[in-house]
Amino acid sequence: MSISYSGTDPVTNLPLVGPRYEEKLRRLGIETLHDLLHHFPFRYSDTSDIISITELIVKGEGTIMATIESITNSRTRSRKWLTKATLSDHSGRITAVWFNQPFLTKTLKRGETFLFNGKLSTKWGRNLSNPQYEKASDETTHLGKLTPIYPETYGVSSKWLRARIKPLQNHIPDIVEDFIPFQIQKKEKVIPLSSAIEKIHFPESEKDIKDAQERLGLNELINIQIQAQKFFEKKNKYDAIKIKSDINSLLVRKLLDSLEFELTGSQENAINEILNDFNEEKPMHRLLNGDVGSGKTIVGLAAAVATYDQGFSTVIMAPTTILAQQHYQTISKTLNDGDITIPIQLLTSDSKGEVGNSPQIIIGTHALIYKQELPINTAFIIIDEQHRFGVEQRETLEKLGQTNGNRSPHYLTMTATPIPRSLTLVLYGQTNVSILDEMPKGRKPIKTYLIPQDKRQDSYKWIKDRIEKEDDQAFIICPLVEDSEKVEAKAAKEEYKRLSKDVFPDLRLGLVHGQLKEEEKNTILNQFKDKKFDILVATPVVEVGIDVPNATIMIIENAERFGLAQLHQFRGRIGRGDQQSYCFLFTDATDKTRIDRLKYFCKNNSGFKVAEYDLKNRGPGEVYGIKQSGILQLRFADITNMKQIKRAQNIAEKING
Ligand code: ADP
Ligand code: MG
Repeated sequence: MSISYSGTDPVTNLPLVGPRYEEKLRRLGIETLHDLLHHFPFRYSDTSDIISITELIVKGEGTIMATIESITNSRTRSRKWLTKATLSDHSGRITAVWFNQPFLTKTLKRGETFLFNGKLSTKWGRNLSNPQYEKASDETTHLGKLTPIYPETYGVSSKWLRARIKPLQNHIPDIVEDFIPFQIQKKEKVIPLSSAIEKIHFPESEKDIKDAQERLGLNELINIQIQAQKFFEKKNKYDAIKIKSDINSLLVRKLLDSLEFELTGSQENAINEILNDFNEEKPMHRLLNGDVGSGKTIVGLAAAVATYDQGFSTVIMAPTTILAQQHYQTISKTLNDGDITIPIQLLTSDSKGEVGNSPQIIIGTHALIYKQELPINTAFIIIDEQHRFGVEQRETLEKLGQTNGNRSPHYLTMTATPIPRSLTLVLYGQTNVSILDEMPKGRKPIKTYLIPQDKRQDSYKWIKDRIEKEDDQAFIICPLVEDSEKVEAKAAKEEYKRLSKDVFPDLRLGLVHGQLKEEEKNTILNQFKDKKFDILVATPVVEVGIDVPNATIMIIENAERFGLAQLHQFRGRIGRGDQQSYCFLFTDATDKTRIDRLKYFCKNNSGFKVAEYDLKNRGPGEVYGIKQSGILQLRFADITNMKQIKRAQNIAEKING
């Protein structure tokens, strides 16, 4: 009798799976046969190397193939069941023992040959203690091979899962559907999904596992790409507002020539790329990715000036009021210094000003711009996200684009999160990315040191000296407290007290934390900037988006709790002036992995480099906190592998037709 299966069959269709197991499997997210086959092992135990009993005695552990000479149950003094078996092969004999499994004598019968895997114990004379076992045959499920180990739940072991998945081995093509058409598979040399799934559950070699992972990783990337491509298709149904301009247009030239510095090569490239996009029929969706301090503002401003020159308005959105104010000040000053007259408005919570429809630059926060109507002639929107980014935000911004009937403004998202190019491709699909990967000339790299507990006092003393003698200022970043701003604020207050009383009694300390009102925060930050404090103690949630060129020292407490990209973000708050700056990472971590990470950070000043390091070692969710967003549930894809990403893009395009 032949059984037929389909992916939507409930797991209860399988023999030995009733309501009790149905419930347990649901906890693992498994309801159908399709789900079961997509419950992937997270590692493999290699018991394929079968050794002799003599070798086992030397090695202390391993897999043997042995015949059961005798097997008996007895009771120990503490009334436990003890099963004892004598096993033998051509090389010798060994005793195996199990506790409280008296039923074993029903399975392990005298005279039969089994595989046994386990460790030697010498507790009651030398024996193989509680070994795993499986009847020897040409086709074993658990031992004598690469055995998958699955995520388990109470009552559902890997062994149980293997036994349920095994009967499906010959039916995989009926259960999983391959979304890459056969023709494309052949052309792109991709293995069929069904064989990838077979290999991941029943590998015969390490290579099988690799091949399977390659295809499954490709699947993840292709899925993201298909979504991204659909997203842009939808977006592209709007025509752009064409802004005819280039870097040598009069007003743009006037701005750039008035600067007291030369643009870096990558700044110039970025401006060219943006202005090129402006000339297109389709709206620009470009990401400007550059480290803190790499000079993104002037790039955005040059494009805003070009926009104004053609009679249109630009809207700049900052993540916080304080950053909006800062942009307003620097941009006003830059324009003023260049003798360029452009109406410029700041929209903060208390500004009630009408937004007129003449060409202008408007600076505000997301929330405000939402409420107000944008000028009808808005042709360019800059989103300064600092280090935040997310698909959700992009989606909401879409709505803004419809203020002009069917014509969409151009979008430039500026981010200081050093996102490696590969990841921007994964995240943003075919969005165009401009990267500022060189720092303006003359910037001194920040010196970063890892400070173990016993050097803490020395560092405090050094900092105290610097502040007293050189009139420097310092940031102290408090430890990260997961998920609770309130607890974090409380801890920061205590730390602030301790530092004020015990460590720096002669210095003036300020404190900002996430429980303060925006105004209160701004006041304190401004006071710090005006040198009313020597040291600013801050919780990690506080966006110290303000420029304090005189602050040259930073301490980061419990540095090991942060991702490197985030540490880099903090570090970017210093080193803004022309003075040498210093960053101290305090840590009580002692394990090699975390110490190595922090050491790498000390040696590398490029945000791209440290982000890439974390990405490789900890995965994207950990690094950018985007686990929740659901777009990056990548298990097999290597997002630092450009070749694989390109391949996925290619295939996605073909599938989309
Ligand atoms: P971010 O990329 O962090 O937004 P900003 O645009 O705020 O950086 O620039 C940081 C500082 O560097 C500003 O004071 C800006 O005037 C200055 N700056 C920008 N570009 C250059 C350059 N090419 N040479 C020297 N200084 C520059
Ligand atoms: Mg900036």
